[in-house]
Amino acid sequence: MKIDYKRGIRISDGDKEVLLDPSYQSDIGVVTHGHLDHLVKDARMTPHTLDILKIRLGERRGKPVPYFIPQKVGGFDIQLLPAGHVFGSAMVKVGDILYTGDFNTRGGVTCGKAEPVDCGTLIIETTYGKREYRLPPKEEVEKDIRSWTQIQREQGPVVFGAYDFGKAQEIIALLNAMGEVPHVPDKIAKLCEVYQKHGIGLKFKRGTPQGDFTGVVSPSSLKRPIDGLAKLAREKDGSTAYLSGWCAFYHFFRSMDLDAQFPFSDHAGYDELIDFVKRCDPDKVLTVHGSSKEFAEAVEQDIGVRSRSLK
Ligand SMILES: [Zn+2]
Repeated sequence: MKIDYKRGIRISDGDKEVLLDPSYQSDIGVVTHGHLDHLVKDARMTPHTLDILKIRLGERRGKPVPYFIPQKVGGFDIQLLPAGHVFGSAMVKVGDILYTGDFNTRGGVTCGKAEPVDCGTLIIETTYGKREYRLPPKEEVEKDIRSWTQIQREQGPVVFGAYDFGKAQEIIALLNAMGEVPHVPDKIAKLCEVYQKHGIGLKFKRGTPQGDFTGVVSPSSLKRPIDGLAKLAREKDGSTAYLSGWCAFYHFFRSMDLDAQFPFSDHAGYDELIDFVKRCDPDKVLTVHGSSKEFAEAVEQDIGVRSRSLK
């Protein structure tokens, strides 16, 4: 069995071969989720991700693989499991190997959560793989967002900047739970409709709001000069906030027109990464993305399991 990285993660054994998150189209490819740095056509993916691909890349081209149903790909037995990162996101089990893809053990209301799996080799994404990348508890962040929103709504409109796919829908669900039905631009609305098709009842409005409102926009709308719903909110003395895991470590007030920022993450933070490795109890850990070197060192030092960065 050989695992290497070449424009994607390649697992091969004799004439068996499978490609995880390849950057090119391949019928032995497996795409873990619908973020644009992962999406390619013609690969295997969850039916949810395939519907997202249609919206984002214009064609529904690929093979749907439902969660938990074993499949043969490139001669290997594979299985997709919920990854808790975004709607439709999957971890990939290839025999005794688990690849997390982008994942989150805290999960979200629109995507379930990642559960550890006993495995021989764990290939883990390490976006927040440095020791200092500790994220606050999700419940605390959500509580802060709710109370800030309640206060700001008494003064005027409130607009959140959140990545179009995944985070935008999570904040819409949170606002819906508070009785708010946010306005969104068309490109976010189209993605929300895919969620609705799969039974996730997000409530949102299109078009220009009259009077007070809440809104969810792309983060780029909050960059100066602000535009769209964010601009409208400002004209009505409203407030804006940015949602990203990186808000736990960096300030975005200079690059964006913001009143607040919240560390709302769809990735596992450092503590969750370490905990996940322990609970999967692997013989070997391979790390990919972000702080992969630092995390491999931490795994060897703190858990005593062999580890290296795959790239
Ligand atoms: Zn992602």
